[in-house]
Amino acid sequence: MQFIDTHTHLQDDKSSNATEIIRKAYMAGCQKMICVSAKEDDWEKIAEFTNVLPENIVPAFAIHPWYVSELNDNWSERLAMMLQKFPQALIGECGLDGLKPNVEKQKQVFAEHIRLAEELKRPLIIHAVKAVALIEEYWDKLPQKFVIHGYNGKVEFLKKIIQKGGYIGVGNGLLRHPQAQELLSFIPLTKILCETDAPFQREGSWQIKEMMEKISNLLKIPLEQLSSQVYQNSLEFIK
Ligand SMILES: [Zn+2]
Repeated sequence: MQFIDTHTHLQDDKSSNATEIIRKAYMAGCQKMICVSAKEDDWEKIAEFTNVLPENIVPAFAIHPWYVSELNDNWSERLAMMLQKFPQALIGECGLDGLKPNVEKQKQVFAEHIRLAEELKRPLIIHAVKAVALIEEYWDKLPQKFVIHGYNGKVEFLKKIIQKGGYIGVGNGLLRHPQAQELLSFIPLTKILCETDAPFQREGSWQIKEMMEKISNLLKIPLEQLSSQVYQNSLEFIK
């Protein structure tokens, strides 16, 4: 079985070196991982991982809504340059967080990411926390390919994402949700992506198989069948 971890912050792992984590993940069937950034400082590190192991690392560059107040001038030009330098790169993670104060600035920065996603035809990895109302004005502007990562919200929001053609990033947020089974049952199998969000939600990408086993139990679908479908979804998402 093959897996792709669609959301990891490898550059933030303090315990071990990146090459060791990638090797361990690979041995556990995790062929690729999308390495997402949160701030500009991350970009060079992710670029380096990608250059060393281009078969295993899919880079994603962006500014996370938690860090919009630390932005330097011309960040968007530098982001565009990184994206042009890495044609396989995705845009992530960016988005909106209603628990953080500077919502106006977040919106401005998010809109710029959406613009770049359209212009450069890249998938968008979205962080949406307490953002059901905030994201309302963006539904019709989102690029064709987007994922709401770490989903743990309500069924209504989930339905809206599906209706807009989005993918759902299934990770700890959803798997530990009291209504995990019900929420999962609303996601078309072709829209499931699986993510560790390591090192924050899980230790490392090697745990992706264990998470897939959980999904397979909840959905009552054989692991092999589910894994093959989710692997295809992930390839479709990053292509
Ligand atoms: Zn993340």
